Amino acid sequence: MPAPKNQASHSASRPRDPRVARRLETVASPVSPNPVSPNLVSLNPVSPNLVSPNLVSPNLVSTAESQVGTEMPHHDPGHNSAERHDDTGPREECGVFGVWAPGEEVAKLAYFGLFALQHRGQEAAGIAVSDGSRVLVFKDLGLVSQVFDEQVLSSLAGHIAVGHCRYSTTGSSTWENAQPAFCTTATGSGLALGHNGNLVNTAELLAQARKIGVPTRNGASTDSDLITELLAAAADTGLDNAVRRLLPQLRGAFSLIFCDEGTLYAARDPHGVRPLVLGRLERGWAVASETAALDIVGADFVREVEPGELLAIDASGLRSSRFADPDPKGCVFEYVYLARPDTTIAGRGVHATRLEVGRRLAQEHPADADLVIPVPESGTPAAIGYAQGSGIPYGKGLVKNAYVGRTFIQPSQTIRQLGIRLKLNPLRDVIRGKRLVVVDDSIVRGNTQGALVRMLREAGAIEVHVRIASPPVRWPCFYGIDFASRAELIATGADVDGVRRTIGADSLGYVSLAGLIAASEQPASRLCTACFDGRYPIPLPPSESIGKHLLEDLDAVARVSSLTR
Ligand code: SF4
Repeated sequence: MPAPKNQASHSASRPRDPRVARRLETVASPVSPNPVSPNLVSLNPVSPNLVSPNLVSPNLVSTAESQVGTEMPHHDPGHNSAERHDDTGPREECGVFGVWAPGEEVAKLAYFGLFALQHRGQEAAGIAVSDGSRVLVFKDLGLVSQVFDEQVLSSLAGHIAVGHCRYSTTGSSTWENAQPAFCTTATGSGLALGHNGNLVNTAELLAQARKIGVPTRNGASTDSDLITELLAAAADTGLDNAVRRLLPQLRGAFSLIFCDEGTLYAARDPHGVRPLVLGRLERGWAVASETAALDIVGADFVREVEPGELLAIDASGLRSSRFADPDPKGCVFEYVYLARPDTTIAGRGVHATRLEVGRRLAQEHPADADLVIPVPESGTPAAIGYAQGSGIPYGKGLVKNAYVGRTFIQPSQTIRQLGIRLKLNPLRDVIRGKRLVVVDDSIVRGNTQGALVRMLREAGAIEVHVRIASPPVRWPCFYGIDFASRAELIATGADVDGVRRTIGADSLGYVSLAGLIAASEQPASRLCTACFDGRYPIPLPPSESIGKHLLEDLDAVARVSSLTR
């Protein structure tokens, strides 16, 4: 494949690893109608993870048997979300990590930062680096440890890095949609961007992009790519100016980390829906989705990036400016499930919050029982808290098999429910003859809990009392978490007793929203709780202008175009 015309401005010399070159060529082709390299062809249309012959990892085998095992070997970062055992729970959004550190191996710092954030997105990973004269991007489908190896990382030399791990909350899970997104700016610079969150005015921005003739997307279909393209197009008087003009126009949730050749930027939406924190390295700065990622690369936590704040870091130092007045509405679900337990959000430890939720759950929904067990690992802290609050002994009643793929690869619900048995096995000696309290983090569709209750009864439990460390999820999230649709949410169509009957429990109790908020130690006015109460803090557009696949829906694009003519 010939190098695209604009590659020269970013790549004075060929990267050492030919795979880097392929990625660069395919990324740096904003004008190509089909920028996907012929080398990047999925041999198995069922699974876009099967990318060959550019196999980054021998784990991604493009054979028929992969139909059973195409889900990446399950990486366990010690976090609850990596433990999901069906497709009924919330899916994480993305993790972002940025470094500005001359003299450091920034790609490796980004790698370990992403490794710590793997729970936030397990479909794709990428790192962009700048050495001051060019921006290189390497990305692929797969876990961080599958996408990168020593050879690739050593090819990514520079002093700035932007890393991203993705779960698709907009657009499909394709190579083009993996991040960092890349564009060439109006002045010929490279621009690489990683985004956590979802915009709610994507259709409006797309219409604007079309009006001013911004090039078509690089085969990508995400709001993140659209942001990148709009920024690149507006950067005729420099990226700084483009950023200041564009950020106030974005609505929704965005924690952004991006860079050109000389500067690392970080920006957080005025509501601060998704977390973003700043850390100090010995020889530079790091910015990350969670404090745990700072810990892992040895960066000292400095502070949160404030809602509505833009940071720029370069040879002149760190500069902070505001692009909007702050109106904090942090996602309360980060405390429930999304963030790592060893992360701190708004000064409150996630693990401590989950423990406290469990204690409050015990007060709000006591049970006459012999043993409290968690659904590992997601329910563990709240189960400990429940045991503390109730005085009922805590024990391990389920053993998790960490090596079984997530069951959402199974096509039918029947098999999906069986899949829970592959993932979780009861300790019969512990359970037999006991009245159990089983604590989980949330119920979305209810399939998991129904299968668990059946499994525990079959293992000899004489009573199963289910306790949930969050209120009923009744509303979808439009700010970057992929729940089921409203119709699929079990709590939308049934009251608590209806859900109890559906899952077959002897009793069911959810922590109250007030209890959850109190446990987070945040004022309710500074939190988003929309998936529980339907109060969306950022106004939503009409339903036809929002949705995960909006940019793939040509009809929607046509509708938007006609609306804006
Ligand atoms: S709707 Fe729920 S998951 Fe989404 S940002 Fe609000 S609290 Fe978080």
